[in-house]
Amino acid sequence: MTVDIAIIGAGAAGIAAARTASALGKTCVVLEARQRVGGRAFTDRSLGVPFDAGAAYIHFSNRNPWIREARRLGIETRLWRGWTHHEPWLGGHPIAAEEIERRIAGYGELWEHIETLGEAFPDLSMAEAGSTLSPWAHATLTNMSRLGLGEEPTRLSLHDYISQWEGPDHILPEGYGSLVEASARGLPIRLGAIVRSISARSKGFDIATEQGTAQARAVIVTVSVGVLKAGHIAFEPGLSAPLLRALDGLDMGALTKIVLAFDGERFGLKPGDDKILLDAPGGSMSFEVWPFDRNIIIAVTGGDAGRDISRQGEAEAVDRVATLFSSLIGQDCRSHLRGGRLANWWTDPFSEGGYAYAHPGAFSARQALMDSGIEGLYFAGEATAGGRFGATMTVAGASYAGWDAAKRAAKHLR
Ligand SMILES: Cc1cc2nc3c(=O)[nH]c(=O)nc-3n(C[C@H](O)[C@H](O)[C@H](O)COP(=O)(O)OP(=O)(O)OC[C@H]3O[C@@H](n4cnc5c(N)ncnc54)[C@H](O)[C@@H]3O)c2cc1C
Repeated sequence: MTVDIAIIGAGAAGIAAARTASALGKTCVVLEARQRVGGRAFTDRSLGVPFDAGAAYIHFSNRNPWIREARRLGIETRLWRGWTHHEPWLGGHPIAAEEIERRIAGYGELWEHIETLGEAFPDLSMAEAGSTLSPWAHATLTNMSRLGLGEEPTRLSLHDYISQWEGPDHILPEGYGSLVEASARGLPIRLGAIVRSISARSKGFDIATEQGTAQARAVIVTVSVGVLKAGHIAFEPGLSAPLLRALDGLDMGALTKIVLAFDGERFGLKPGDDKILLDAPGGSMSFEVWPFDRNIIIAVTGGDAGRDISRQGEAEAVDRVATLFSSLIGQDCRSHLRGGRLANWWTDPFSEGGYAYAHPGAFSARQALMDSGIEGLYFAGEATAGGRFGATMTVAGASYAGWDAAKRAAKHLR
């Protein structure tokens, strides 16, 4: 097979790159390792109802292109109005209202502190940035790091954190993964095509896959930073020193979801409730109750606790989460449990983690990752999004990065 542009990976970045390449009149093929599209935007239906194993919220929806795409495809999105009842637990009890207020104020305190640091402050870790603040600001920051970014605050760059775009969120009853999947229809995608190597030749590239070798004049690689760092794809010539330095500055967090499916017993809880165990083993765990009025609980943890539970495997993870959930509802929920899933991005060889974050001092690594140093070879994906767009770590950011890489590839081919 010979095409103008080969795109590695059919996640949001690969889909966007393929659409743009086709719109610019270039022939292309998307080589995808899994037997499905969407990558880390995946709606799992194996429990009988849809839930998003990866991306679930259309963040900064006031300017997110996936809102327009949902309208085009006739897929429903709803403005997320927050939890109806948010209940943090500590030491076996819900924490007092005043303590919740202190923690909310702690969030404000953190932002005030960041603003007083001014424009050109050193790229501290999130933990360092919070070290002089009140215990409540510190607790809020730790929670936010683990459950928002999937990583311990000591490893996260503050610059990277604050560069993220903010705005209202939208949710999708049929799942964000379903939207991304629908958006890929009609594109030239080869499933089960695990790419093993990409070799530069005089007139382009040879891309060796499990299904044979493809030739292309340009290549866009959209696999995660985790996949690149694990060396699952060999590059010839090898990756440049600046690119390896950029990869050193980035790593994958371990945001992890464990879903419990019940027989219809609701334990007195209402859809839209959210409970959070602040002292779950290894870090906090949140429990989203009956999303879209479905009989499932979505538990989320991250950082080292996410890694730990991922390594245990599905059966043990589901059992552990059922035990923790039981501690919140005051009875053993197991007799009503009908199944469970572990969305295990951390040990998945095609993901190798949740999403990429920059280490303290390495904020510029996202931008550096965009430049392969080899004519015709481009890297794109959520990890590079923060280089030019503050949409880092999101589906939208991955799409921006895919568009941008396809435009650069098309320009190179001209
Ligand atoms: C638990 C979790 C929750 C999240 N929540 C949100 C959210 O609410 N909102 C949001 O916007 N974002 C969220 N994200 C982040 C979002 O999912 C990602 O930023 C985005 O989906 C990444 O898209 P991508 O195209 O860059 O990478 P991917 O989706 O990872 O696509 C890369 C593709 O490459 C394929 N691949 C890997 N190796 C090979 C190989 N050797 N050969 C061929 N193909 C290969 C993979 O199978 C994959 O399909 C979340 C992520 C996780 C894990």
